[in-house]
Amino acid sequence: MKKVNKTTFATGFHFIPLGGSEEFGINFNLYACDGKWMIFDCGIGFADHRFPGVDILLPDPAFVEEYKNDILGMVITHGHEDHVGAVPYLWPRLKCPIYCTKFTAAVLRAKMNERPDCKGAKIIEISTESELVLDPFRFQFIHVAHSIPQAVSTVIETSYGRVVHSGDWNLDPTPVIDTPTDEAAFRAAGDKGILAYIGDSTNAPQAGRAGTESDVVIGLEHVFAEAPGRILITIFASNIGRIQSICRAAEKTGRSVCMLGRSLHRMTSNAHQCGYLGQTQSFVSEEELPFLPSDKTVLMVTGSQGEAQAALARIARGDWKGIKLGKGDTAVFSSKAIPGNEKDINAVKNYLSAAGVTIVDNKNSRHKVHVSGHPYRDEIADMLSWIKPKAVIPVHGERLMLEAHANLARDMGIETVVIPNNGSVIRLSQEEGVEIVDHVPTHALAVEPNRVISSHHKGIAERRKLQFSGAAHVTVVLDSRGFLAATPHITLIGMIDDTDEEDQEILEEIKQEIDDVLLEIREEEITDMLRIEEDIRICIRRMLNDIFGFKPKVSVHLLRV
Ligand SMILES: [Zn+2]
Ligand SMILES: [Zn+2]
Repeated sequence: MKKVNKTTFATGFHFIPLGGSEEFGINFNLYACDGKWMIFDCGIGFADHRFPGVDILLPDPAFVEEYKNDILGMVITHGHEDHVGAVPYLWPRLKCPIYCTKFTAAVLRAKMNERPDCKGAKIIEISTESELVLDPFRFQFIHVAHSIPQAVSTVIETSYGRVVHSGDWNLDPTPVIDTPTDEAAFRAAGDKGILAYIGDSTNAPQAGRAGTESDVVIGLEHVFAEAPGRILITIFASNIGRIQSICRAAEKTGRSVCMLGRSLHRMTSNAHQCGYLGQTQSFVSEEELPFLPSDKTVLMVTGSQGEAQAALARIARGDWKGIKLGKGDTAVFSSKAIPGNEKDINAVKNYLSAAGVTIVDNKNSRHKVHVSGHPYRDEIADMLSWIKPKAVIPVHGERLMLEAHANLARDMGIETVVIPNNGSVIRLSQEEGVEIVDHVPTHALAVEPNRVISSHHKGIAERRKLQFSGAAHVTVVLDSRGFLAATPHITLIGMIDDTDEEDQEILEEIKQEIDDVLLEIREEEITDMLRIEEDIRICIRRMLNDIFGFKPKVSVHLLRV
């Protein structure tokens, strides 16, 4: 990739988000200090309808790859997919040491072990007890509460100033696993002086506070007690605290918990390795289910985002052997929709509803069945009051989330607020200030079943267009005099129904149109194959636009015999 930026990174301290600062997911943040680089997080994003045939998106590391020899390492703040999911894809290109806490390391190892090209990856466990020094950086990790164990914020210290990279966090005062966010450590960092706070904006538009997981235990207890039949509950597999809450509520209401879905089994195994879930009752296996009364069980399932192949969607469709839900059963959505997934989730809810299942989520229930892992406005205000940064740089979110975060910071009297785009180069300097000084090119990568390509790849753009306007393929065979040697062969994709007679007439009209075009061609042009192809293409395109009101992709192949 050609470098177009003008900033030299040989001196100074810069922050460059390459992903996550325009969308939810794809977090990939760079810090450059005196020619050395650190990467913070390397996550995936879910692809939406704009990327047909693509499930996930990755950040594009091409820019930082040019500085590969000066990358000191990658810090993964926690084990959520939007922070860790792209590591197995991109590590082979970057090959730098990875630093993360024990639980995050367990999540990462499980992923990387499946990839031969990740062999040799060095995963180094960090702790909140000790600092990490990678000259010219010094890192202090601070424990934060989040919807996954062992998430960290990082104080990054350089000779140009000290910044806080928040990662994802909230201020749950009574989490069910781990401890609350370490307020004292943030206050102590604030006392030393913080140049900039680079922080989670996900819930900045929400007033108030996220709440506490302990209330979810009570909420679930009520829901479980009131449910007459079988209970199905869907969560993010990595939310070990929620698994603990479900187990507690189940125990209190005399129900056994059964896990369905590969990622839940994998995550609970990670949790056990790291000393979590030891106090909860043991899970019952799927094979034991038929021997238990349905009002004595809770099925904990994957697929809270409506993923078609996950346990929840399959059970909802009646596509899971041995489990059939119906009237009297309850499905609890103990999670939030990641923006863009709402339609898929509703599709699952509709299946369940049609079968007579009662749907419970945070919106329709008087009981709390979910709390967010991200800080609401009052929590962000607390954080800013503890660390008193000179500048705030909102990241981790769509533009409206970043704007809400920025407005809050301005309301609190923060001197400098800088809203980045992906690729913004932000100078971090005690003397010269914090501001955007440059922009480097960046865009997401798209993961197809057998390859990874640019999200701007023409193939994706063409598939998107085909979805809306279809395609016409026309083969025309001419003899040496320029007359048709055979009937033109026409295939229309996405326009006609083969069983509809009226639609068949369209094919005849196209053939007539081809005849007309050929008649118009003058003798001296009869050998100009490209010209004839183009004339036919334009006429058919115009004709199809007149008929359907959209312009399909038309390709014409002219053969001469
Ligand atoms: Zn996140
Ligand atoms: Zn997270």
